[in-house]
Amino acid sequence: MHIGIIGAGVVGVASAYFLARAGHRVTLIDAEPEPGKGASAGNAAQLSWAYGDAMASPALLKHLPGILTNRDPAFRVRLRLDPDFLLWGLRFLANTPSWRWWSNTKDILKLADESRREMALLLAEVDIAFDYRVAGKLHLYPDTASLSAARPIVERKKRLGLDQRMLSRSEAEAVEPALKAYQGEIAGAVYTPDDALGDAAAFCRQLTAAMVKKYGVSPCFGRRVAGFEQPGGRLLAVRFADCDPLPVDAAVVTAGPLIRTLAAALPEARGIQPVAGYSLTVPWREGAPRVSLTDVKRKLAFAAIGERFRVAGLADIEKAGSGFTSDRFAMLRGAANAVLPGCFGQAEWEWRWSGERPMTPSSRPLIVRSQKIHGVYINAGHGMLGWTLALGSAGRIASLVA
Ligand SMILES: Cc1cc2nc3c(=O)[nH]c(=O)nc-3n(C[C@H](O)[C@H](O)[C@H](O)COP(=O)(O)OP(=O)(O)OC[C@H]3O[C@@H](n4cnc5c(N)ncnc54)[C@H](O)[C@@H]3O)c2cc1C
Repeated sequence: MHIGIIGAGVVGVASAYFLARAGHRVTLIDAEPEPGKGASAGNAAQLSWAYGDAMASPALLKHLPGILTNRDPAFRVRLRLDPDFLLWGLRFLANTPSWRWWSNTKDILKLADESRREMALLLAEVDIAFDYRVAGKLHLYPDTASLSAARPIVERKKRLGLDQRMLSRSEAEAVEPALKAYQGEIAGAVYTPDDALGDAAAFCRQLTAAMVKKYGVSPCFGRRVAGFEQPGGRLLAVRFADCDPLPVDAAVVTAGPLIRTLAAALPEARGIQPVAGYSLTVPWREGAPRVSLTDVKRKLAFAAIGERFRVAGLADIEKAGSGFTSDRFAMLRGAANAVLPGCFGQAEWEWRWSGERPMTPSSRPLIVRSQKIHGVYINAGHGMLGWTLALGSAGRIASLVA
């Protein structure tokens, strides 16, 4: 079977790998000149096997008035009279009750576990370099109230077999000595020793090159897909904006946040909203953390990726493509420097990046057959955890196609 994969971010590249390995002829398509240029390019790099918490939660609901009135600097929301956005917002609210949150979180954790297993198999099968490392992760809680609230969740996750540990500040400092100089409040931490990290963009580039060599995958980059040829609702070909159609037997849409540009053909795409985030990358310097950190109060994620050091954060819920302003980068740099003085803003180089998380209201990705076009499959909507969930999702979409 000839399968077109539309989108070469982490989800598309992983899907191509699974389908090519299963013996299909695969064409990997992207509008960009190389893979990994979209939401996957500058993310926080964390493979959060044991985090997986859905965004819609009772805790977030409590903070919603502050978020909606833009009093929480980590968020920026611009309300608009767009029916898709309003419906998404209502569905998001419907996912905030405690039982829904836990049900969504459990599903995500299951998918994360599948991804973790697949990552181990992939690393044994292909020789690719993407600064992968089991770095461990510390979630830093600012006060005893937030730390106490984290405890029952850690207990629940332990019952699922996940290794998470509650640490005092001094125990956290023993795990990551750089925390001795950390200027943010730390009442304690949750430590996940098995969490890993890696450069998602390098993963995309390297795995694509390996698939081309090993499985004869055809790369088709610099080509934007405009729709499908689908007489009678059955897929015949992928239609491009500026060249001849590509005949295929099936297509997997892995277009991340840009899936909405295909919503005329795929109504499911309307349930995915872009949530913009930002990152700054500088050279790693002596004394900076090596263990991944999440500052729960400031909603900042820090990662040492090879010889680079990255901070990522902020969540801007606005119209697609509208949030990339220099004031948000300044805010991110200011917040990061406040806790790790001198790490950002003084380096010889700095890479500023912003991308959009493709969010569903439940935070669970959409891994489905298209309702409208026979032969089209969707693997999108991975939100804040697309890098973590990519391989598990690829395994599931390959089963669905099979
Ligand atoms: C600030 C930030 C930090 C994050 N940190 C983490 C983290 O630490 N851990 C984690 O697990 N996740 C993290 N994420 C989330 C993660 O990066 C995303 O969920 C993931 O990258 C989504 O991957 P994707 O392949 O679905 O989309 P993308 O990477 O955006 O790939 C989609 C591709 O499709 C292409 N495309 C779209 N439409 C078309 C078309 N019509 N024709 C041709 N090509 C098309 C695009 O060019 C793009 O390359 C973070 C996200 C952000 C923004």
